[in-house]
Amino acid sequence: MEAPSDSRAAAALLPPPSDVGLHKPPAAELVVDDHRRKPDILIIYTGGTLGMKKDEAGSLRPVRGYLNSQLAAIEATKDPRVPTFDIINFDPPIDSSDMEPADWISIATVIEKNYWDYQGFLIIHGTDTMSYTASALSFMLENLGKIVVLTGSQIPLENSITDARRNLIASMIIAKEVDMPEVVIFFNNKILRGNRSTKADNWGVAAFESPNYPPLGVLGVDIHIDYQFVASPPKGRFRVWKNFNTRVAVLHLVPGFDVKAVENLLLPPLEGLIVKSYGSGNAPSRKRDLINALQKAIQRGVVVIITSQCYKGRVRRADYETSLGTSGAIIGCDMTTEAAVTKLAYLLGKGYPRETVRQLMLDSLRGELTVEEAKAQL
Ligand code: ASP
Repeated sequence: MEAPSDSRAAAALLPPPSDVGLHKPPAAELVVDDHRRKPDILIIYTGGTLGMKKDEAGSLRPVRGYLNSQLAAIEATKDPRVPTFDIINFDPPIDSSDMEPADWISIATVIEKNYWDYQGFLIIHGTDTMSYTASALSFMLENLGKIVVLTGSQIPLENSITDARRNLIASMIIAKEVDMPEVVIFFNNKILRGNRSTKADNWGVAAFESPNYPPLGVLGVDIHIDYQFVASPPKGRFRVWKNFNTRVAVLHLVPGFDVKAVENLLLPPLEGLIVKSYGSGNAPSRKRDLINALQKAIQRGVVVIITSQCYKGRVRRADYETSLGTSGAIIGCDMTTEAAVTKLAYLLGKGYPRETVRQLMLDSLRGELTVEEAKAQL
């Protein structure tokens, strides 16, 4: 770690190893370790478009240490309302398409090591997989009592017309001023529960939506928080879970497809499967081969969760005779695919018996699913 030269100095985070599992990055690299009075918030800069520049070939690439120099140059950071901050950089910063569970673990470990020193945490992240990281962190950060904000932008900070500056400054203020025990995404003008969010637009600046849960807050003339939708404070001690079982896949159904093309997917080492079914949870029933293949996988212990290809709404167990919910698979209710897949990897990573995993998939662990709807399907 570089020694911080002033209260807004940066520390470096060693590149996270690419292995998945109980990975413990060296503690010394992860703490802003001096005896200064700590700034208000800790920013973790992982990369993404916000801090990218064009290379000679014209492709956007994240740039090392870029956020530090840019923040120093932004006049708005001198506004007393903008919190003081430390920055920990991913080195090198990455496009979020390269994010892996090992990186989620690195981010969570930084929060764990610095948890008591800051009022809130801000993660600068690419938009492509931001909802996966937000969902994963919501499960990993058990009994979270502080706000963790993720933001990024569709346009780099250096462009003259950009959403980056606004997203960045507003998120900094939210990370300090808003007191809520949630992992959230702030983007454009909305504060969304991270595990309810999805990237809905790859062009517009309102890139994220929360199709099945209201925004927790909105930025208008000021910040408005809808506390009725915010999670209650935790009862237990904050701790971080650092193991995912990544033997989980997602199967998107297509009419008339040949089951033989996916049969191999259902073989070991697969342990969890999210089926993106039609409508409220349907799959072709006239050709039994898909249902049979899924049932065989379930019998050998694969946990199969049904979500919907529809952007909005929920999966029901038995609306139609074609409902997959009667095949032994678990309904995903109104969970996003991002939440379902990270939750399943988290629960399988805990090593629970399969039946416990199935039960917990129907429960709301962090507000990722509407529990009354799920239980009504049992
Ligand atoms: N590919 C970029 C990333 O996810 C896109 C972005 O940041 O908007 O890192």
